[in-house]
Amino acid sequence: MIETLVRKNIQSLKPYKCARDIYDTGILLDANENSFGSVVPHSGSEINRYPDPHQAEMRKQLGEYINVDPKNLFFGVGSDEVIDLLIRIFCDPGKDRILIAEPTYGMYQVCADINNVATDFVMLNDDFSINVQETLASVTPDTKIIFFCSPNNPTANVHATETISEILDKTNCIVAVDEAYIDFADKDDSCLKLLNSYPKLVIMRTFSKAWGLAGIRLGYCIANKIVIDYLFNVKAPYNVNSLTREVFHAAFKNLDKKEQMVAAIIAEREYLINELSKMPQIEKIFPTSTNYILFKIFNAAAIQKKIAEKGIIIRDRSGQPKLMDCLRITVGTREENNKFLLALAEVLTEVKE
Ligand code: PMP
Repeated sequence: MIETLVRKNIQSLKPYKCARDIYDTGILLDANENSFGSVVPHSGSEINRYPDPHQAEMRKQLGEYINVDPKNLFFGVGSDEVIDLLIRIFCDPGKDRILIAEPTYGMYQVCADINNVATDFVMLNDDFSINVQETLASVTPDTKIIFFCSPNNPTANVHATETISEILDKTNCIVAVDEAYIDFADKDDSCLKLLNSYPKLVIMRTFSKAWGLAGIRLGYCIANKIVIDYLFNVKAPYNVNSLTREVFHAAFKNLDKKEQMVAAIIAEREYLINELSKMPQIEKIFPTSTNYILFKIFNAAAIQKKIAEKGIIIRDRSGQPKLMDCLRITVGTREENNKFLLALAEVLTEVKE
């Protein structure tokens, strides 16, 4: 039962009823909006009006695209908002816990910290796959959510869907799988196919990566209707704004562009891997199902800094467990990648092991 995992105060919460919950047409004098218009002329949606709190059109459009019932969809201000809301729904501050598989994306722990929820850590295996035994052993009676990231940031590998289903079979927790980078992986790598069999599975995705829309701050959650309803109950009334919604709908008129960009990024990723593999100083290039590459090189911190001095910014991930001397580079355009490769080659003549 999902209900038993939900915080008591959230179960009994009377959600805020906003004006646009009930009426969104007619002479709208119910929400203290500006009836005269807005300061900025705008030809699209009426930006003097609050946006649809139910996200109805957006859920319908996305539902058709990914073949999911709109009742199983929720949009957040980036998937980062979804992470935060999940913690707020399921974890009692000062009591409940989340479990994360390290090394992984930092926001799960940060959101837990902000909410005064403890984080437990389990290490991924050396090949960055999930250690099922250890993960199960790390679950406590207070563990409410296990977060996995697949493909994982920053290790770039996907987690086998069979492993996720095994964890779901053997625990009572919400299993939240962050699929921010799934468009760069094989279609079959997504946990979406497990959704109907596992009510406690929650999937998060974002428009910030493959869609090229990081600036509009839009992410979404695919989950059981009960979880979705709680997300709607706890979110800020009008979390997704009208301009974001406009760009979202425009994106669906341009789906070819998304496919083309994903193909181009993957091709460019292979180019980068090929060029990096010619550099004997690089100890390891990890396999990737994402739009970035993780590689291991001596003195990574110094190399990252020197490359930054040349104006090219990549991420040093050495601070994370199991990632000593690992750098992460986002795939750029051919021109950007070549500039990076040149900078790296130069730096390698300057920095000594
Ligand atoms: N999940 C992962 C794994 C990420 O790497 C990121 C962004 N770096 C996010 C979620 C956040 O995405 P959004 O822009 O949708 O908040």
